[in-house]
Amino acid sequence: MKTTTPPRITRHIQQLIEKVVPGGDPVYLTVQPEAGAVVNECFPNVEAKIARASGRMLCGWQIWEWPHVMVEAEFHAVWVSPEGQLVEITPKPHGEATILFVPDARRTYTGTAVDNVRLPVRDDLLVRHFIKASEAIVQVMNRGERASQYGQVSVPVHEIEPLMMAQSFLGHSISSGLRDHDPCLCGSGGKYKRCHGRSFDLVFGQ
Ligand SMILES: [Zn+2]
Repeated sequence: MKTTTPPRITRHIQQLIEKVVPGGDPVYLTVQPEAGAVVNECFPNVEAKIARASGRMLCGWQIWEWPHVMVEAEFHAVWVSPEGQLVEITPKPHGEATILFVPDARRTYTGTAVDNVRLPVRDDLLVRHFIKASEAIVQVMNRGERASQYGQVSVPVHEIEPLMMAQSFLGHSISSGLRDHDPCLCGSGGKYKRCHGRSFDLVFGQ
C-alpha cells in the first residue's frame, strides 16, 4: 500500500476535508522530527514536547492519498509553539518531508482510538471492499481494547485474522493494478467480482 502526502488538493481531498471538518482549512506543514519522537505516536510526542517547551496541542486530521485508489484522513495532533506557530514534530513512516493537516478545533485527544476516514477515488468493488475491511479491523480492535478493561481477551484473534487476510488480499490486488472485472488474485480464473468479490460482498455488504 502506497499512501503518502498528497502533492496537491484535489476534488476528492476537498470532499474528504468537508466530511471530517466542514469548512476546514488545510495547511501544508514541514516535518521537523523532534529528538526522541516516535513514528505515528503524535499524541505522546506532543505531550512530551509541551512538558519540555510549553506551547499546546492542536488536534486535527492528517490527509493521506493512495494515488488513484483512495484518500484517507487520520486523527492527528501537532504542536503549537508559545508564539502560535504550528509545528509537525512526529516523524513519518516513509520519511515524508511535508504533511497536509486540517485543524479541527472541535476535537481534543481523549485517549480513545479514532478511526481513519476513507473515501475511494474510483468506483471499484476492490477499493470498496478494502475500505470496509480496514474499518472492520478497527471496530474489532476497539472492541478488544474495551474488553481488556474488564480482564477479558484483549485481541479477538479469530475475528481479526480473517479480516487482516482479506485486507492484505485486497491490498495486493489493488497494488497489482487489478480492477473488479479482472481475473481474481486467487488464481481461480474467474473475475474478482464473481469470485472473492462475491464472498466479500456477503461479509462486508456492497
Ligand atoms: Zn478469488
